[in-house]
Amino acid sequence: MKILVINSGSSSIKYKIFDMKGMKVLANGLIEKIGRDISRFRQRSGESGVDFTKELPIKDHTRGFSLMMEALLETSTIDHISDISAIGHRVVHGGKKFKAPVLIDNEVTATISRLIPLAPIHNPANLTGIEITMKLAPNIPQVAVFDTAFHQTMPEMAFLYALPRSLYEHYHVRRYGFHGTSHSYVSRLAASFLGIESRRLNCISMHLGNGASAAAIEKGRSIDTSMGMTPLEGLIMGTRSGDMDPAIIFYLARVTNMDIQEIDHLLNFDSGLLGICGENDMRLITKRAIEGDANARLAIDMFCHRLKKYIGAYLAILRRVDCLIFTGGIGENSPLIRQQVCSGLEHLGIFIDAERNNKSSTGITAIHKEQSQVKILVIPTDEELEIAQQTKKILQERH
Ligand code: AMP
Repeated sequence: MKILVINSGSSSIKYKIFDMKGMKVLANGLIEKIGRDISRFRQRSGESGVDFTKELPIKDHTRGFSLMMEALLETSTIDHISDISAIGHRVVHGGKKFKAPVLIDNEVTATISRLIPLAPIHNPANLTGIEITMKLAPNIPQVAVFDTAFHQTMPEMAFLYALPRSLYEHYHVRRYGFHGTSHSYVSRLAASFLGIESRRLNCISMHLGNGASAAAIEKGRSIDTSMGMTPLEGLIMGTRSGDMDPAIIFYLARVTNMDIQEIDHLLNFDSGLLGICGENDMRLITKRAIEGDANARLAIDMFCHRLKKYIGAYLAILRRVDCLIFTGGIGENSPLIRQQVCSGLEHLGIFIDAERNNKSSTGITAIHKEQSQVKILVIPTDEELEIAQQTKKILQERH
């Protein structure tokens, strides 16, 4: 069974096609800068396949998806479109309507469209991908997998803001949380690694990439998460501020000439690590900090301090915690951040092992000391594989 996973962005298309027998990646592609004079199209194929990078004009997503299909055929990844059993789409915002992946029909696309005000950049791009592939491959079942769905198990006391309830009822103002596909994937792997049933696992999952979020998972279900109505809330991220006093926005509007769009842009694109030290790539920040750059050091200290506060909060609400999970580009690759985040938490039963933490390895790695009550795991995330697996599950439920 071959499943194609699509992540359609505003100017890019990422795709991966899996052979579900053995979960093998058959091909992996990225089309970037769609709509610019010169776009870039790269595909890597598994094992014996052909790799290529092309620069050519790709005027819109329709052209991009046609090129993707042509490339899959030309590289013999598939012999015919009908070789693809299903297509799984990443959709960022499922609102409160979608608590799980769904088979896409007209009603589903209409709902994703209605949710555009909640994710004005992402949902339109995701929807474009769905609409085009439905035209290109009308007979192939298509499934939407939502970033928000995993967090739909949060109780009201966690997802509501302390605002007039009418804002929730009329305008859907509430916390939704994101990175759900990743939190769900790594927490299931953690359970199986620890030999605990998923539905019994209590853990704190930390997806630390350019976007970052933590989730408190009780009995395998998300009961709280750091991102909110939008991915701006919570941890310090590459370019997003995360938590801050909302009154700063009104203050800035009063004392600067910035209008609301400019402040929105400032908080989403010019803040976070970039705002603190002028750089959002944690590799470069780490290098600069080691060389003695005070602002880079401060960015790391602030990043870890914020994360530590979330760990404390989630330990309090979960009571028993089986493990901490580090994932995402930073979580998987930065021993320095993991060490700094976990140090000083020994009184809470968290003991990181410096040697294990520093040893680079692939796959799931335990980096705690033997006596650690709370295990500490590094787990590479694979959101595309999770989407493929969820898509397969929906397909099987249909039969
Ligand atoms: P992601 O969004 O998950 O791709 O993660 C991107 C972030 O991971 C960037 O801030 C990268 O600098 C960071 N990252 C990747 N590799 C490393 C590494 N070896 N050490 C520190 N940070 C890293």
